[in-house]
Amino acid sequence: MSYVPYHEAGTITMLAGPCSIESQEQMETVAATLQDLGLHWLRGGAFKPRTSPYSFQGMGEEGLRIMADVGRRFGLRTLTEVVDTAHVGLLLQYVDALQIGTRNMANFELLKAVSAATGENHAPILFKRGMSATIDEWLSAAEYLTVDGNPNVMLCERGLRTFETATRFTLDIAAVPVIHKRSLMPICVDVSHPAGHVDLVPSLAKAAIAAGCDSLMIEIHPDPPHAKSDGPQQLTMDEFRALFVELQTVAAAVGKRIV
Ligand code: PEP
Ligand code: MN
Repeated sequence: MSYVPYHEAGTITMLAGPCSIESQEQMETVAATLQDLGLHWLRGGAFKPRTSPYSFQGMGEEGLRIMADVGRRFGLRTLTEVVDTAHVGLLLQYVDALQIGTRNMANFELLKAVSAATGENHAPILFKRGMSATIDEWLSAAEYLTVDGNPNVMLCERGLRTFETATRFTLDIAAVPVIHKRSLMPICVDVSHPAGHVDLVPSLAKAAIAAGCDSLMIEIHPDPPHAKSDGPQQLTMDEFRALFVELQTVAAAVGKRIV
């Protein structure tokens, strides 16, 4: 497989899709929307790192099969989270890019395994900031991913644990310019997990674009009230289409195009 990097200059890469892969039909609905908007990436979790063991844990390999099939048929590249060193090889058989989540930022054995498996093929890695990690700790951990030669690592700010409870996490928008100053890696902003609720997603996405993000992550679902994870924060297809138009205007104001 030949891998395509996440990001090109002058563009903002949209990484949209459901929190969890739940069914073939769900993924096809999402993929059709993304394809129609001219987007290129489909996200979705198959192995979910859940706070509670009683919450939906993901479809596992069956979810990966669905994602690979839908991605191929709709011409979309695919991104899913890796939570276990033992899964790295399996995931790379199915998807185009790997996400490392906030709960695993400092799981150095996982980072080493991902680095080793992508050092030659250069599969893109989306590396989320730990919810309690400083930028220094995050950048230092990111080096575990590049040490074997993979140049396609993108950082992702996704909100921090603070005293504030009005939002799910506190989005550190200043991380965007700081990363641009301190690193050559592109920076994505996941606006869904800090929002926690769909109402806040548009404002955070506009702020991220204005701050200079290279990529946006947004969770979307055909039927959010029945989503198996993160229902309150996922946009419907119609909400996402409407937001996409607004975001293109904001992107144009900073000389970029969302792709
Ligand atoms: C996700 O993107 O599905 C996810 C679990 O995110 P985070 O690691 O930021 O909580
Ligand atoms: Mn989620």
